[in-house]
Amino acid sequence: MEHSASQQSGRHRSMLAIVFIISTAFFLSLGCSGQTDAKPAGHNKEFPVMKSAQEWKDLLGDARYRVMRLHGTERAFTGEYHDHKATGIYVCAACGKKLFSSATKYDSGTGWPSFYEPIQEEAVGESRDESYGMVRTEVHCARCGGHLGHVFPDGPEPTGLRYCINSISLKFEDAKD
Ligand code: FE
Repeated sequence: MEHSASQQSGRHRSMLAIVFIISTAFFLSLGCSGQTDAKPAGHNKEFPVMKSAQEWKDLLGDARYRVMRLHGTERAFTGEYHDHKATGIYVCAACGKKLFSSATKYDSGTGWPSFYEPIQEEAVGESRDESYGMVRTEVHCARCGGHLGHVFPDGPEPTGLRYCINSISLKFEDAKD
């Protein structure tokens, strides 16, 4: 009897080990699919404008798609608007929503267009970004979810905020138009 009880408990332990291995493999595979899925964190929400990845690719082209849909960052001092001083409105390059006014643009010296506030609070959405071992606040267009850049608490008055935005996520509309 003793022998058979210990055999049984041995089998029980092997069963538990197998269940453990299978469930671990399952959760690891979920983690991997999360990494290969290029959708940025915080962008699984619904937005008024929604398109498939292929539709966005066709609409935006590769460079803009990489920044706006895959959370890329253009290289500093390479964008169209970091040193742009004209008076007008910066709209979302993907959907045309008005995002920032030139009246709130300032020279942050970072090489990316910087603003101390959006044109309307509701125009820009925020999400927590933990990529690259940092905790940052990601900002995106509230209408289409297109990634714009990040907001940092080291901007000028009156808000003390720095909206650090990729030029390629914006299109400038001249005030005279
Ligand atoms: Fe947009």
